[in-house]
Amino acid sequence: MKLNNQTSLMKTLTPPAHGIRLPRLLAGVLLLALAPAGRAQPDPNWIDHDRNRPQPPVVSPATASTQEQPGKPPSDATVLFDGKDLAQWVSMDGSPTKWITRDGYMECVKGSGYIRTLQNFGDCQLHVEWAAPLPAEGQGQGRGNSGVFLGLNRYEIQVLDSYQNTTYADGGAGSIYGQYPPLVNACRPPGQWQTYDILYTAPRFDAEGKLLSPARLTVFHNGVLIQNNVELTGPTDWIDRAPYQPHPEKQPIALQDHGNPVRFRNIWVRELGRPGRKELTLSPALLDSYAGKYESLEISREGSQLVARLAGRKLLLFAESPTRFFAKTTDVQIEFPGGGQGKPDRLIWSVGEGAHEAKRTQ
Ligand code: MG
Repeated sequence: MKLNNQTSLMKTLTPPAHGIRLPRLLAGVLLLALAPAGRAQPDPNWIDHDRNRPQPPVVSPATASTQEQPGKPPSDATVLFDGKDLAQWVSMDGSPTKWITRDGYMECVKGSGYIRTLQNFGDCQLHVEWAAPLPAEGQGQGRGNSGVFLGLNRYEIQVLDSYQNTTYADGGAGSIYGQYPPLVNACRPPGQWQTYDILYTAPRFDAEGKLLSPARLTVFHNGVLIQNNVELTGPTDWIDRAPYQPHPEKQPIALQDHGNPVRFRNIWVRELGRPGRKELTLSPALLDSYAGKYESLEISREGSQLVARLAGRKLLLFAESPTRFFAKTTDVQIEFPGGGQGKPDRLIWSVGEGAHEAKRTQ
C-alpha cells in the first residue's frame, strides 16, 4: 500500500479536533500495521505538536577534522580511538593487538590480524578516519587495503586506496565488498585523511534463527553519500555471497589487516534506538575459565557467550564487564569475584532481587 493511501486513511479515521487521543491512537496502530516493514512512522502515542512530548536530548555536535588535526566527537559518542591508545581494541580472539599507535593514529601491522572493539554495538552511527600509505604501493586490491566491519567480521565497508587505482567496482573504497560499488568515487590521494560516516542497522533474527530483516548500511565518504541505505544479501566475502547466519544484534566493530599499513584516527560511535546495557565480547579463554558447576547452577560456553543452566532453564548470558554477566530474557545477574585469575571458586547470582553465593563443585 502506498504512503498517500495511508495518509488519506489516517485523515478518514482521525477527527480534526485536537486532544482526542484514542481515535488517533487506533489510526496510528492501523497505520503501523499497514506500513512496509522497517519504514519509520510517527509515534501514534503523541498528537501533532503535543506540548507534553519529551524534548530530544541536547548534544554538542562534532567539530570538523582537518588534515592536520582530528575534530572532536559529539558529546554523546563512545570514543573508540582518540589517538592515545588501543584500550578499546583487541585481536579477534580477545588477546592484545600488535597494531601500533604513533603521533595520534593507529596503524595496521602486516600479519597481526584484524582488530575488534571489546564492546559490542548494534544499530549505530560510526565515524572512522583513515589514510592509505604514502607513497602508494601495489595495484588494485593490493593498494591501501583494509576494511571497516560491522557485525564482528561479517559486513565490510571496503577501505582501499581508490585514488587513480582501478579495481573491480564492488571492491573499491566505500564498496560494500562484493555487493554494492560506491555510488561515486570520492577518494582522496594516499597519505591524506579521509572520513567514513556510517549508519548501520543490524540484521534481526527470530528465536529460531530465521532472518526477519537484513543488515542495512548508509555511508558518506568525505561527506559525499556513497551508499544509500542498502540491504545486504548476507556477509560480505570474496568470490562468494554467503547466506545470513543468525547472530546477536550487538557485535564488535572490526578493522581489517589486509597486509597494508593503513592508518586510522578519530573513531567514535553513537548507539541508535534503545541501546540498553553495555555489552562486551570477551575472549574464549576467559569464558572457559568460568565454565563449570556451581551448586545448582551450571555454566558453559557457546561460541563467544556464556550459558547458564538453572532450574531446568537455559539462559544466554551477556558480559557487561570481564566479571559480570546478565541475561536479557530474565533479570538474572551473575558475577565471578576475582575472575581473570584462574578458575574462580565461586559465583554470586541473583534473579530479580537479592544475591546468593554458589561454590564451584566441578
Ligand atoms: Mg578490505
